[in-house]
Amino acid sequence: MANYGVSGPPILQISRKAAELLQQGKEAMLKLSILDIPEDDLKKIIDRRCNADSGKTLEFSFVGLINKRLIPVILHEAGIDNIKKPAAKVTQKERMAIVNVLTDWRFKIRGTKSWPSAQVTAGGINTDEIDENTMESKIVPGLYLVGEILDIDGQCGGFNLQWAWSSGFAAGKNAAR
Ligand SMILES: Cc1cc2nc3c(=O)[nH]c(=O)nc-3n(C[C@H](O)[C@H](O)[C@H](O)COP(=O)(O)OP(=O)(O)OC[C@H]3O[C@@H](n4cnc5c(N)ncnc54)[C@H](O)[C@@H]3O)c2cc1C
Repeated sequence: MANYGVSGPPILQISRKAAELLQQGKEAMLKLSILDIPEDDLKKIIDRRCNADSGKTLEFSFVGLINKRLIPVILHEAGIDNIKKPAAKVTQKERMAIVNVLTDWRFKIRGTKSWPSAQVTAGGINTDEIDENTMESKIVPGLYLVGEILDIDGQCGGFNLQWAWSSGFAAGKNAAR
């Protein structure tokens, strides 16, 4: 979580879809599951921790379960501002609120970061206008189009670089013929 919002590879991945929805004037929500544990099991884990550390602070009882820097944020989101209170004093309602934040934290997406932060461009020249074997334009013979100038964008994980290299290789080979 950065000062402007959420970040990281998964966020980068879904930002394309979010941007598309926002551009269409639709609402976009982000559901974050910090822990991939069924609610009932997570509630038992929290109960165990609160009971075992009953004399210790609530904040302390989550060390080892959640990233330390996230603990105050999550407790605040669950409506608990006194994170120093004894773990045993945490009510059942508060425990359920913590479970809810950890498994189903919702954010209304207001926007994506702007052009200087973008890594890949969606949109571009229609691929129907290109010979997929040679990368030559069907409209302007002798013109080869590759990489991001085409309406192709891949998932995170090297697919965009691979596409740039592969299409560049194909175009270069065919242009030289
Ligand atoms: C910060 C960042 C991180 C990224 N990380 C990844 C990643 O981890 N994995 C992945 O797969 N993809 C990643 N990408 C995307 C990937 O880099 C691009 O998809 C890929 O480089 C596109 O290749 P390209 O040749 O089409 O365009 P570019 O790499 O943008 O090359 C275009 C070139 O044309 C030059 N140029 C522009 N205008 C002119 C002009 N008028 N005259 C002459 N030259 C000009 C530019 O200077 C540039 O060198 C990342 C992109 C960014 C910005």
